[in-house]
Amino acid sequence: MDRQEIVQWLKCSPGEELDSLREKADQLRRLSVGDEVHLRGLVELSNICSRNCSYCGIRRDNLSIKRYRIKTEEVLRCAHKAVKFGFGTLVLQGGEDPGLTKEFISDLILRIKTETDLAITLSLGERNVDEWQEWRKCGADRYLLRFETSNKDLFHRIHPPQEGQPQCDRVAMLKTLQALGYETGSGVMIGVPGQSYDDLARDIELFAELGLDMIGVGPFIPHPQTPLGMKENVKMAAEQVPNSVEMGLKVLALARIVCPGANIPSTTAFATLDRKSGREMGLCWGANVVMPNLTPVEYRKLYEIYPSKAASTETPEQSRDAALIQIKHLGRTPGRGRGDSPTHLEQLTKPIRKEG
Ligand code: SF4
Repeated sequence: MDRQEIVQWLKCSPGEELDSLREKADQLRRLSVGDEVHLRGLVELSNICSRNCSYCGIRRDNLSIKRYRIKTEEVLRCAHKAVKFGFGTLVLQGGEDPGLTKEFISDLILRIKTETDLAITLSLGERNVDEWQEWRKCGADRYLLRFETSNKDLFHRIHPPQEGQPQCDRVAMLKTLQALGYETGSGVMIGVPGQSYDDLARDIELFAELGLDMIGVGPFIPHPQTPLGMKENVKMAAEQVPNSVEMGLKVLALARIVCPGANIPSTTAFATLDRKSGREMGLCWGANVVMPNLTPVEYRKLYEIYPSKAASTETPEQSRDAALIQIKHLGRTPGRGRGDSPTHLEQLTKPIRKEG
């Protein structure tokens, strides 16, 4: 699929033609990753962040939120809950918190691996190679790092570098993670102000070029306590992509088409914008993963990367039950085991991917 064709799909209006895109993505999903929906237990480790991304509610300069960092024993309780619920993976997510040190995370991985058979996915932002290497050695299986947008100017605008540091190259970082043997995931925001149709089509091409094992996408949701949540700071692209559920679903379907063997979650952003059926729609447009939140309830509301996040007061049991009901409703089955991506498993039988 070339860029022009992707742009045409992104601009396609609801109707028979667009239905054919959903059908194609759903069929490919069935053929490549099956009818199982993998449940990943999500633990939000910390809302402390040293970065100041202009779209994110937990950015450093948002002084109106209470900050937290979870304790090791609390994460272990979440891990045991994940096992009890029959989940195969624990996702450890957090801001770029200097307190989540190499040693803290290494110890956490070792303890989870000693006490359970869970696969571990890390999503801890831009870290150095030394840390990534060490965590991999300790047993971390997967790493998620969204490149957010392939438009470099836009990325620099919304994701300023650390003071005195050069801007990072997330694509190079993703290649490093692949070379270290991580099952590697990335993704983008859809409809962030300044994003054109051509930018978004380029993002989808990049998913394929990187050969991603996991892809997470979701519509941009403005947060009032961020620069991008305030109208005077918003600079639209000439051909601005809307941040709608419909656009998000098209991107989901196109991601499935260009990376058939990837694990693709129906993300919380969909469930937030359409509480009744957002998550189910994602599963019908190519997704095969959901991530029930296991974070202790007292921290849930504080991890507000965007406002009114779906299910922010649910207990872990309620999160699991809601996901199971939706999966059953669609006639699909909950996944068993670790749910590694076929793309990654195939890669393991080939020569090692080289960095660069
Ligand atoms: S997007 Fe990530 S790195 Fe940026 S402020 Fe939010 S948590 Fe920090």
